[in-house]
Amino acid sequence: TEAGTGAFRVRPRLTVLSGPSGVGKSSVLAELRRQQPEIYFSVSATTRKPRPGEVDGVHYHFVAPEKFQRMIADGEFLEHAEFAGNCYGTPRTPVLQALAAGKPALLEIELQGARQVRIAMPEAQLVMLAPPSWDDLVVRLTGRGTEDPAVVERRLEIAREELAAEKEFDEVVVNGDVRAAAAHLLSLMVGPQSQEFDE
Ligand code: 5GP
Repeated sequence: TEAGTGAFRVRPRLTVLSGPSGVGKSSVLAELRRQQPEIYFSVSATTRKPRPGEVDGVHYHFVAPEKFQRMIADGEFLEHAEFAGNCYGTPRTPVLQALAAGKPALLEIELQGARQVRIAMPEAQLVMLAPPSWDDLVVRLTGRGTEDPAVVERRLEIAREELAAEKEFDEVVVNGDVRAAAAHLLSLMVGPQSQEFDE
């Protein structure tokens, strides 16, 4: 508290959340946003086409491939990667601004990007969102119904690889229940385990 020792402040953390397609990342993040509106949620750029209901500038910045390449060349990304045929990247400046303003920041990105952040910003914590079981994930991914079967197949293949990388992560949050998973994630971002530093 303000009236405490004053010896430290809680450092706003950069948290990277990864997890296989279909594990429920968007639901958990929507719930996290509800539980803690102060968190900065990074908005990625992508060359993927919007899905129904997705809003440019809110869910993603939807950009043309040429524009994406220019952003890479201009050094605008903290990390970027290709995933199932499309490019995705985290604009660097808004994340650094949020942290400088004292807000915890969260990036929801895939494995290759998480590895890049690990190197670029070693103080970041990497959190894997995992399904309660593999069968559970297959059901969720097949049931979404917005992608064609070849895409689903490819995403399942990637999901298997992503889950195998669990040991590279600092924490694993199991998404059995969306509210519990969001609360767990929130505790990792702002709870007593957040890093502290002398001031
Ligand atoms: P989707 O197309 O389903 O929205 O996202 C596909 C994958 O790309 C997900 O695993 C998501 O976490 C990841 N992703 C979204 N934004 C970024 C980003 O900026 N960088 C990286 N490396 N991956 C991202």
